[in-house]
Amino acid sequence: MARRPVILSLTKMHEAGMSLLRENSELRLASATDPATLQREVVGVDGLIIRTGGVVDAALMDQGRDLKVVGRHGVGYDQIDIPAATERGIQVLYTPGANTESVVQHVIAMMIGLSKHFPQMSAALAAGDFHFRTSLMGRELTGRSLGIIGFGRIGRRVGAVAHQAFGMSVLYHDIVPAPPDVEALARARRASFEEVLETSEYVTLHVPLDASTRGMIDRAALARMRPDAILINACRGPVVVESAVAEALDSHRLFGYGADVFEEEPPPEDHPLIGRTGDNIILTPHSAAQTEEGLKNMATWIAEDVLGVLRGEAPRNPVNDPELVRRNRKK
Ligand code: NAD
Repeated sequence: MARRPVILSLTKMHEAGMSLLRENSELRLASATDPATLQREVVGVDGLIIRTGGVVDAALMDQGRDLKVVGRHGVGYDQIDIPAATERGIQVLYTPGANTESVVQHVIAMMIGLSKHFPQMSAALAAGDFHFRTSLMGRELTGRSLGIIGFGRIGRRVGAVAHQAFGMSVLYHDIVPAPPDVEALARARRASFEEVLETSEYVTLHVPLDASTRGMIDRAALARMRPDAILINACRGPVVVESAVAEALDSHRLFGYGADVFEEEPPPEDHPLIGRTGDNIILTPHSAAQTEEGLKNMATWIAEDVLGVLRGEAPRNPVNDPELVRRNRKK
């Protein structure tokens, strides 16, 4: 009988995925996700699964000489050195779409919560000030303008929901134009980065983190935005320069800020935005995808795909080119 593959999961995931892995492999759970521990524990491992904690770099892959596949439980794969994996014949997989609805609903919740001053209203009530209710003017989403930076799976769906549910007018900026039928679902128009920033009452970010998007929303970009704009970041922390957001809030050049992600995770104690009171800010700890549905999808999809690749099947959701990976593995 063929040897059961050894799979190292960096962290626990939904039981549906864990039991699939237990049934079909020797499943190990990393004792920690720091580089030294992972370099020790990757020895003799065929497949590795990573969530948000930990980094898969060339040094780790060099220790994992048996490594054939790395699965990313989630969508962004910026913690994995993709060229290094390809060079070593390691197939990288991810779970595009598994948490799209969860993230979209998180973004819409932030848009509504900030429009109606949930942070300040709830803080006032907790402090016993019921009459605070008339101190701030909320607003509806209905008919307002929404700018989407990154019109991929999540961005498109945010646009369609916002347009269909609230009649929002949608502009998007993306390096690739969307097909007309996709644009039609949100009645969206493609525009320049500058036009989206300058005209939108809501700006939401849905780009991957790479060299082209790191620091994209900096002081200059924020200065272009309307002072009554609400900015949402549920993609990756380093896309936004957080100190510039704090400055914009200090000088009342932003109506509100919602973020699920941070430049550094976990964020440092002296973070410029966390713990500010009286501001229209909603911050969540990278929890947009933390739903029963999202977690189950991510865990089962990545478990099935990793096991399939280890059985020699074609990858369902490859990040790097399977043909190139196969050729490099043979070398
Ligand atoms: P996607 O690949 O479907 O969409 C990304 C879009 O961004 C693409 O259309 C791409 O063309 C566009 N893009 C890339 N570089 C750009 C640039 N420089 N300027 C403008 N557009 C650019 O990905 P998705 O599934 O929509 O997810 C988007 C991102 O959201 C992921 O990369 C991930 O980092 C993040 N995410 C976060 C969470 C969370 O828990 N908060 C969950 C899922 C995804």
